Amino acid sequence: MTSIGFIGTGNMGGPMARNLLKSGFKLHAFDVVASSLKAIVDAGAEAAGSAVEAAATADIVITMLPAGKHVASVYLGDEGIIAATRPGTLLIDCSTIDVKTARDVARSAQNNGKTMLDAPVSGGTAGAEAGTLTFMVGGPAEGFEKSTPILEKMGRTVVHTGAAGTGQAAKICNNMILGISMIAVGEAFVLAEKLGLDAQKLFDVSSKSSGQCWSLTSYCPVPGPVPTSPANRDYKPGFAADLMLKDLSLSQEAAMQAGVDTALGYQATLLYEAFAKAGEGGTDFSGIIKMIRARQR
Ligand code: NAD
Repeated sequence: MTSIGFIGTGNMGGPMARNLLKSGFKLHAFDVVASSLKAIVDAGAEAAGSAVEAAATADIVITMLPAGKHVASVYLGDEGIIAATRPGTLLIDCSTIDVKTARDVARSAQNNGKTMLDAPVSGGTAGAEAGTLTFMVGGPAEGFEKSTPILEKMGRTVVHTGAAGTGQAAKICNNMILGISMIAVGEAFVLAEKLGLDAQKLFDVSSKSSGQCWSLTSYCPVPGPVPTSPANRDYKPGFAADLMLKDLSLSQEAAMQAGVDTALGYQATLLYEAFAKAGEGGTDFSGIIKMIRARQR
């Protein structure tokens, strides 16, 4: 039986780890927050006293951490898990982090004779609970083959995106489209209001026309047309604006490093920054329509 070291059992990592336990895997888990660790131990995992202890005897290590600096500190250096794991251990980082750190850590793993994958997810906490996440996996093909039976226990779609770092690239490019398109849909609905066009009528037209997109048809930012969208529950997340801002900021960092001009990605980042500064970071990201509306004369 494959033994898994799972590090970072927070809002996403907790339910992902629970799905692995339900599938019969043996888990050695660690989180710096005692209550997060206790929750997964109560579900059947064995508690480790450190990240290194969780990883040392594992066949596969999975991390689900907040940001690049946490990933670098857990993996790198003499005290890191790359140095501490056994030869042949597969390392999978599911956190959403910057492309550069993902590539640096993967290179360090390779230099140490280990295979590392960057495998960020989309689908949010509901997808993590339900085991329906989408995994975008960057790294060597043989590592990908080995990872799929595990990732499929936590997700419905697992895509090999290419070499190391391309999983993170897929995640931030996708979310840059999402951030921009949500603002575009919000602006269209606010303009429609000002022009005396009923929101449902705009939806009826645009959802069947060339303006059709996920932000409109699955996540409509005004109440009514899509009953399951956060607009119908006062923009309770869902996907919080703070997380959208994090992903847009990562997209801009990557764009700057790659020398790519993403004018709308940049504007979307500024707008989500303003929304978060106004105290709305915990609101669903579709709530940005409230700020667009408030800015009108
Ligand atoms: P979270 O803060 O709930 O969980 C992160 C966990 O990592 C926490 O429990 C924290 O204590 C732990 N941690 C931090 N440093 C550690 C260390 N050195 N060793 C061990 N544990 C450590 O965050 P989350 O919502 O679970 O998100 C995790 C990642 O998934 C982030 O990169 C986020 O951007 C991404 N993500 C989140 C969502 C979402 O909807 N929440 C969706 C997709 C992707």
